[in-house]
Order: sequence, then structure tokens, then C-alpha cells
Amino acid sequence: MLDRARQVVGSGKVLALQAPTGSGKTIFALLVALNVTGKALFLVRTHNQFYPVYRESKRLGKSFGFVVGKPNVCPFSSGDVESIDIDCRRCEINLATGVEFGEQPASLVSKLRQEGLANGFCPYHSLLFSSKSTEVVAMTYPYLFLPWLRESLDFNLEEYVVIIDEAHNLDTISDLGERRLSRATLSSAMSQATSELVRNILSKLQHKLSALPEVGERYLLINDPPTLEADELELLQDEYEALRAKMTEQRKIGRNHLGSVLRFFLSLREPGRKVFLNGGSLVSKNPDPAFQLDVLNQKTLPLILMSGTLPPLNYIQKVWGLTKDIEYLDVERALPTTVQGKREWLLAKDVTTSFQKRSDVMWGKYASYLMRIYHVSRANVLALVPSYEVLRKVLGRLKGINVLPEDSRTSMEDLSRAAENGKVLILAVNRGKLSEGIELTNGGRSLISDVALVGIPFPSPDDYSKLRAEAIAARTGVANEELLVRIPALIAVKQAIGRALRNPGDSVTVWLLDKRYDSPWWKARLGAFNPRKIVL
Ligand code: SF4
Repeated sequence: MLDRARQVVGSGKVLALQAPTGSGKTIFALLVALNVTGKALFLVRTHNQFYPVYRESKRLGKSFGFVVGKPNVCPFSSGDVESIDIDCRRCEINLATGVEFGEQPASLVSKLRQEGLANGFCPYHSLLFSSKSTEVVAMTYPYLFLPWLRESLDFNLEEYVVIIDEAHNLDTISDLGERRLSRATLSSAMSQATSELVRNILSKLQHKLSALPEVGERYLLINDPPTLEADELELLQDEYEALRAKMTEQRKIGRNHLGSVLRFFLSLREPGRKVFLNGGSLVSKNPDPAFQLDVLNQKTLPLILMSGTLPPLNYIQKVWGLTKDIEYLDVERALPTTVQGKREWLLAKDVTTSFQKRSDVMWGKYASYLMRIYHVSRANVLALVPSYEVLRKVLGRLKGINVLPEDSRTSMEDLSRAAENGKVLILAVNRGKLSEGIELTNGGRSLISDVALVGIPFPSPDDYSKLRAEAIAARTGVANEELLVRIPALIAVKQAIGRALRNPGDSVTVWLLDKRYDSPWWKARLGAFNPRKIVL
């Protein structure tokens, strides 16, 4: 398999590697990359995912480096800043020094912050400078997919094989480039503005935002969004630049809300951008994922996409717009023995989250199922619902069990603490803050024994999905229900199940709580050919 993978990447094709957690895909991809070009650029979603890359690089005896965003390592940054707001040109310690990557990324970052300040060097530029000469470099997606950040790196990408870990996330890559504008941001920007003229501009915008309807989680297209005249933008830009310079000079870099407002309006000049209303904010984004992913079509960019839930080949080609030749390698199918844990399937046919069937009775039934699952489960339960609205409906009906519902403040530490205090049912939203990142393990084994899928997590049928479908259809001539609705839901379902299978020795009971799972399409793709039917 390794030889074949080397040939594929060496010949300029994309290697799409479908391999479950625990199958050794990190070391496999590194071996392929290092054999082909001698250098690997490893792209991950979060900084926490640097560690396995560091560990496997050490195992292979290869030098490892990494880059984190300026906000994380700049000694003057408060952390919640955007990289673009840190103006290094005015910094007194804008000097790079050599970094020894001899320890774990997280501890090295905090050490560099202290040492940079004490010894007068820049931790960010030092990491960037030193990473250029290591065989393996880890960084997060924005460094490849945001053009301005990619260019700021000044890496010669042709020297590397680019490995995209957890590549199923490319499906939501448009989120990376989105710009949001809320009334809260405008208020904060007003308090940062020094000019009366700018405050008036911001106040006018606030009134316009207040007049927009309340739409909750859905995306509503705004055909006539608020705009700023060229002279208003110029005034805002001047205020922003002045604040940015002042923060660096004073060595106290906090969130620059004027910058957030400015960038929202500047983004509207980019081709393909649409403006939506979502959760009380205006959102500017390009609904076509191919726009942001086009960098992957560069002929001279050797590429490995890998994930435990990689979409099928035609999805990668049509929806993501990859035009290069792709070889799809499914490790689970290629190996004689399973590398994934065991799954037991149960199916409830008397419930559904289908919009036409939603009712108080239905939410009551779901709550009853979840309480029952909690009582019979061996350990913790992960219950995934399709939206925050459904979460609230079900949560209000759960009684007598230990529940940890997801909200905007829930952290992984909260989850770990809750699990330490006895059995817990984690009630989270598919594609929400927790569904991707939940990692409840002990000694590498999962602490989640049961996954309950409340409904099917189809993408919300709103203006954003509609425009995404239109963009894909215009580009490819194909935009069917399978590509646009069912495959994204399948990836979300497999992700949820994967939260309980962190090791080949793990086993999970999967509760399919929606009658729509009782179809050949779902059964075949989940490998749930004969689920046990359950009723309340
Ligand atoms: S220490 Fe100075 S040069 Fe380095 S990131 Fe911070 S502001 Fe920029």
C-alpha cells in the first residue's frame, strides 16, 4: 500500500486516503510525503492536533517544526485578536531567532512567549523562520486557504507534499473566509473610535442592523445589505490603522473591532460574496467551496487528503471542485482485518425530526429514548441533534439524568470534568462546537459507549444551502440531492460515531433515532445492514 501511495503522489496525482482513527494514517502520510519530496506540510484544524504529528515525526527521526498564529504566541497579544490586526512593522522586537523544536508544541509556545519578551526576539517570526528548514511542518488550515496568510508565510509550497488532515472539514471551508458584522461588534467599534464622524457612521450601521428581522440559526439572503461610501470607508480605515499602530507601540494588542467592521465591508468587493443574516449578524461569504479550495488545483502542489470520514470521489471532484487526477484509497476495504472498533446498531422507527412531523409529542418521545439510553448505557452517552432549536426542545423534557448540553461556553474541560463525576449524557449539535472535537478518552480508549443520533443532520434548507447548490450546479452541471444533502449528512453521522471509536479495541452502540435511517441508502453506507428495531 505504501509503495502504491508513493507512486500516486510522486506522479502528481492527489492521494485521497480514507482511513479510520487509530489506523496509523498520520505516520503513513508522513512516510509517503517524506519519500516523495523529503518535506511534509501537515495541515490540521486546531493546534491541539499538532501533537500526533510531532510524535510521529520524532518516531521517524525527522525534524519537526510548526507555526501558530500571531495571537497565540505574540507576547503583546491578548489572544482574542485577529492575526491581521497585529502590526509587526512597528514592533521593537521584530527579530527572528533560531528555535529548537525539542519539546511538545504547547509547552514550547508558552516558553517562547516568555523568552521572546525577556530576550528581545519575536516568537512568531522565529517559529516561521525555523520551520522553513525542518522536514515536517505543522500548521492550521488558514495558512493554506486564506490567500493573504498563505502569502505572508513565504514558504515555497513546491518543496512540500501537502497533507490535509481531517479533510472532510474542507466541506465547510467557506466558513474560514466569512466575515461577520453584529450590533455588538459595532458597539465595541464605537467605543474604540476617536472621531465623531466614524462614530456616526457606525451608529448609522447599528440602526440598519436593528431593523433586520430575527432569523435564528438559518441563513437568510440579504439582497440589499448596508454599504459604506468610499469616503466613509477611508475614514474607518484611518481610525483602524491608528488604533492598530497604537496597540503595537503600547505593547498591548487587544481585539480591534474597527478592523472587524472594516474587513466586513472590504470583503464585499470580492467576487462571489453574498451577504446573509444569521444569528443576529450579517455574514459575508462565498457559498461555493471550490472558490477557497482552488489552491489545491495547482499542478505543482503534491497533495494527500486524509480522513476517517472522507466523502466519495465524485463529491471531492464535483462539490469541492478538485480537477487533478485523484486516487482514492479506502484502507478499511484494502485490509483483510478491521481497523475500526465494533459497532452495534439499533433503529427507532417511531421518531423523526422531519419538519412536517415536528411536535411536542415528538420531542417527548425523543426525550424518553434518550433517558432510556442513558440508563442502559455502559458509560457516557453522546447524543447529537440537528440544531440548537431541537436541542432546546429535547433538553426541556429530560428528567432525572445527568445531562451536559452544549452552549456557546461549553469547553472540552467541562466535558472531561462532567465525565469524571459519573455517567453523563452529552447533548450536542451536529456540526456544532462540540461534535467534531469531543475527545473523551482514558489511556487511548473511548469513554463514550453510546452514540444517539436524534434525527438526520441534513444541511439546513436555507438560502445559503440554496446558493451553494446553485454555485455547484453552475460549475459542474450536477447538483443532485445525494451530493448536496445526503453525503454531508452521512459525513456528520460518521463523525459522530467516530467520537466513540478512538481505538481499534473500542466498541459503540449506535442508536439511529429516525425512521428515515430505515432505507437501503443509509444502511449500505453506514454498514448497518440489520439493525435491531426498538420501540418505546
Ligand atoms: S512580538 Fe512583535 S513582531 Fe512578533 S508578532 Fe508580536 S508584534 Fe509582531
